[in-house]
Amino acid sequence: MAAERTSLFIFFGGTGDLAYRKLYPSMFNLYKKGTLREHFGVIGTSREKLTDEQFQQNVLKSLGTAKTDKEAVKFVSHFGYEAHDVTDKAHYQVMKKRADEMDKKFKLNGNRIFYLSLAPSFFGTVAGYLKSEGLTDTDGFDRVVIEKPFGRDFDSAQQLNEALSKSFDEKQIFRIDHYLGKEMIQNIEAVRFGNTLVESLWNNRYIDNIQVTLSEKLGVEERASYYDNSGALRDMVQNHIMQIVSLLAMEQPVSFTDVDIRAEKVKALRSLRVYNVAEASTNFVRGQYGPGDNQRAYRDEDNVPHDSNNDTFVAGKLLFDNYRWSGTPFYIRTGKMLADKFTRVDVVFKKPLIDIFSFPQNHNAPLEANVLTMYIEPHAGFSLRLNAKTNGQGFQTKPINLDYFVDAKDSKATPEPYERLIHDVMKGDGTNFSSWQEVSYAWRFVDQIRKVWDLQKPEFPNYTPGSMGPAAADELITRDHRQWVYRLNK
Ligand code: NAD
Repeated sequence: MAAERTSLFIFFGGTGDLAYRKLYPSMFNLYKKGTLREHFGVIGTSREKLTDEQFQQNVLKSLGTAKTDKEAVKFVSHFGYEAHDVTDKAHYQVMKKRADEMDKKFKLNGNRIFYLSLAPSFFGTVAGYLKSEGLTDTDGFDRVVIEKPFGRDFDSAQQLNEALSKSFDEKQIFRIDHYLGKEMIQNIEAVRFGNTLVESLWNNRYIDNIQVTLSEKLGVEERASYYDNSGALRDMVQNHIMQIVSLLAMEQPVSFTDVDIRAEKVKALRSLRVYNVAEASTNFVRGQYGPGDNQRAYRDEDNVPHDSNNDTFVAGKLLFDNYRWSGTPFYIRTGKMLADKFTRVDVVFKKPLIDIFSFPQNHNAPLEANVLTMYIEPHAGFSLRLNAKTNGQGFQTKPINLDYFVDAKDSKATPEPYERLIHDVMKGDGTNFSSWQEVSYAWRFVDQIRKVWDLQKPEFPNYTPGSMGPAAADELITRDHRQWVYRLNK
């Protein structure tokens, strides 16, 4: 059994999709493992009017267990509900009273986690009232968890951060990027800093380029009205991709702690070249899907304007101006309605300077580059492509793969990202959350691309569902005499 952690959780937006689909089931997993046991309490809040019993039944349903599952019934007995409009200042006194009661009932030592699973426009208001109305006035810890998106550009993110900072200091703010909760993303650090073989080659002398692909098979589904105001650049690049890239690019931290890891990630992001207009136009490609593969076009989706110029695909080339990476590009791409659903990182090494095997009379195919692929999802694992001799007479080489995949049993036992992240918040460990500095540097980079795009009218739609995006995404890399490692019709 895991060590028990003690806290009150107040979920704002506690009847929302995220809460029922991800947060409560993750809390239940923590309960089954013993991290949550006797000393925890949950208050769900939203504008909806529900009794405690109704809310407990809803939570029970969200866990996907039988209604009679004794463990689940005991778990939900720690849940209470308070209808609460977050803009109603006076009502925070009712919340405070309820929180104090829960604290006493479950002996929570005044520890409080305020989880804002709400529209971001409410974050500042809630944080302000939590402090002014005394909910943070306890002897224990007070932490606030913020869902994405954190702003829609640098200016709005800064405003949001200033509003939050009036009530909570940086160490108390946990900005969720659920990619950081994924097992294989955390494995990037293990593989890099746990292996001399890898880290000694992890630089521009031996690595030709790094490719990060976050590919989605689905379209916008029911999130169209949100997505049409966001797009792939804001929704995926500014947060998830920039986080993955900074883990790949950073120097070795002094120690494996949140403070030291963040310091290195920030340093890496600071050396990312912020593009001027010409560079942004050349090094970034956007796309929007048209019809095809039995799918309708993005512009024909429900709640999407027929003339929308929103990006459902982005590909780009990132350059770091530092000693480790100068001259080694990072290519990134993400999009909706692509060929498959997966996330992977391909690290392409330089070929041997001299290929001694391909002398003319040997007819040997030229050596291929070594590639270290990190499979993030849906399958988790690694693959290292090496060149080896084929069996038999003569001397021919061919690429072989050394593969490792997390087996089905281990992958079942892998905690869900939200389970891991909620656990980290209880521990007060910010390693797998985005710091304000990381968020701000990522926005500064992305804003430059956005500004250039806002000035130009794109020729949309420009890719078909089931493909890997527009032709320009392939040209982006082939003009550098390189290829995407993952590509269709190889
Ligand atoms: P949702 O619309 O399903 O739920 C929103 C919740 O907020 C509801 O409980 C609603 O009653 C409550 N609410 C709205 N206005 C309120 C008010 N004035 N006072 C009190 N409560 C109010 O949204 P969601 O999908 O659960 O998303 C919540 C947050 O999480 C958003 O910031 C979203 O961007 C983020 N997020 C969601 C997902 C997801 O998979 N759903 C994924 C990543 C991030």
